[in-house]
Amino acid sequence: MSVPALSRTAVDRAALRRDDDEWLAAAWSSGRLLIADPDGRVTISEDDGPSLHLLDTARWEGSGERLLLGVAADGTAYWGAIGDLPRALGARPGDLRMVGGALSDLESGLLVTLVALGNWHASHRYCPRCGAQTEVIQAGWSRRCPVDGSQHFPRTDPAVIVLLHDGGDRALLGRQPTWPKGRYSTIAGFVEAGESAEQAVHREVREETGVLVDDVIYRASQPWPFPQSLMLGYEARVVGGEVGAGDDELEDVRWFDRDELQNDIATLPPNASIAHWLITGWLNRR
Ligand SMILES: [Zn+2]
Repeated sequence: MSVPALSRTAVDRAALRRDDDEWLAAAWSSGRLLIADPDGRVTISEDDGPSLHLLDTARWEGSGERLLLGVAADGTAYWGAIGDLPRALGARPGDLRMVGGALSDLESGLLVTLVALGNWHASHRYCPRCGAQTEVIQAGWSRRCPVDGSQHFPRTDPAVIVLLHDGGDRALLGRQPTWPKGRYSTIAGFVEAGESAEQAVHREVREETGVLVDDVIYRASQPWPFPQSLMLGYEARVVGGEVGAGDDELEDVRWFDRDELQNDIATLPPNASIAHWLITGWLNRR
């Protein structure tokens, strides 16, 4: 896969249309709707693979906010809403982590956008300046305070995630105690206030694994809306220090050979994660 699984999309986000009420009304009436529940689950149908259960907007009886997700090349406007999941024969609830890597470019992009917007609205109902309840504007892409007029936008928190290698055939991975048995993954952490992404790479790696790195190379980014992260993916070469789980986050850190990782795919994180993309990308560049 040329880009990480959740960085795929097939719609124009139509940012310039978000204030055009006439256009929005027409786009709603002929649009398609994806509904997620407050926990980010959606209705998934299974044919050849998983696909999202989308409704015609006219069939929706919910009262939640209408969130414009984007417009496809054929002109179809896709909308999202938070509400009760539609029922469909043979369908089941699923979430982005479970199915995001297996959906089409279009559906993966719609779902990640809806989950990100839904999480933001759920936790940003009040004005951070004066505490008044804010109102949704711009087809779900902004909130405005009716008291002081301040405008607020969906928040995204940058985090770095790093594939550590030795310049040869070994990668250094860590494991959190809550993960399924045997799973190891790349090293990740939030970018702190006043810090560059590159500084965060050096700091997080040193804190979590004890090693020093050089040759820090940016690879790609991926939204990870749990609740609001943007993962900035890097590779870095270990050049010093002493390997050991440094803080409370990891219970083990150890080296893996390429052959070991290629033969034991159960070690790897789920394919919706950028960690999976970073590790398999490194493996495939043998
Ligand atoms: Zn206010």
